[in-house]
Amino acid sequence: MYFETEGIVLKKRKLNDSDVFLTLLTKKLGKVQVFVKGANNPKNSLNKGSHPFVYADFSIRGEKNYSLSNVETKDTFYNFRENLKTLSYASYFVDIVDHVINEDESNFELFQLLIESLMILNKTTGYEEKLKLYFEFKALKALGYAPLVNQCMICSKKENFNKFSVTSGGVICKECSKKHPSAIDLHPMVIKLMQFTLSSNISEYLKKDINSLLIDKMDIFINSYMEYYLQMGNIKSKKFLKIYE
Ligand SMILES: [Zn+2]
Repeated sequence: MYFETEGIVLKKRKLNDSDVFLTLLTKKLGKVQVFVKGANNPKNSLNKGSHPFVYADFSIRGEKNYSLSNVETKDTFYNFRENLKTLSYASYFVDIVDHVINEDESNFELFQLLIESLMILNKTTGYEEKLKLYFEFKALKALGYAPLVNQCMICSKKENFNKFSVTSGGVICKECSKKHPSAIDLHPMVIKLMQFTLSSNISEYLKKDINSLLIDKMDIFINSYMEYYLQMGNIKSKKFLKIYE
């Protein structure tokens, strides 16, 4: 079998001095492991496509055991290696995607979100924390775990929210919150921002001026929410982000 597909390198694993295994997220095959013969040789034409973050058209041979036969790079995101902060955020985005998608599984929405987010990281600075929140909410949405923020989880009322139940995955209104002491307090402004983040596209979201205190509050919330639904504990790059927060 022979496939030509757009994809991005999530991980690179060295096999020996010359060969590597790449973990790719592709449009046609989903997440796959691909053997690359001679990838570590700088003169080999496959070398330029065999690095983390490379976004390219990959030509892949095989059935279950895949190997790379050609690569046409679209973007190598090489600049990430020159700025530690950018590199940390890019690694975090890629690690989340690698963590939540199983082998041979596809998620087109997440693929698009990853490419879009890496492109923004590549051309702007100063928006990293804000972009991280967008990425996390949209990744949850792409996986079917988006928090329900438009109606009360108990009575379905569409206003006056002041609490959030992580286990139920949604907001609770003032009246119902008395009956649910285990739900966490969430400022109505944070709930409003969550509604906006989930319904906007990336350019609308980035244009909106968001108070840094609100970003911090959302960050605390999304961390516990993601931990509960996606078990993020073993994602190493997450720890590096702490340096920049
Ligand atoms: Zn209610």
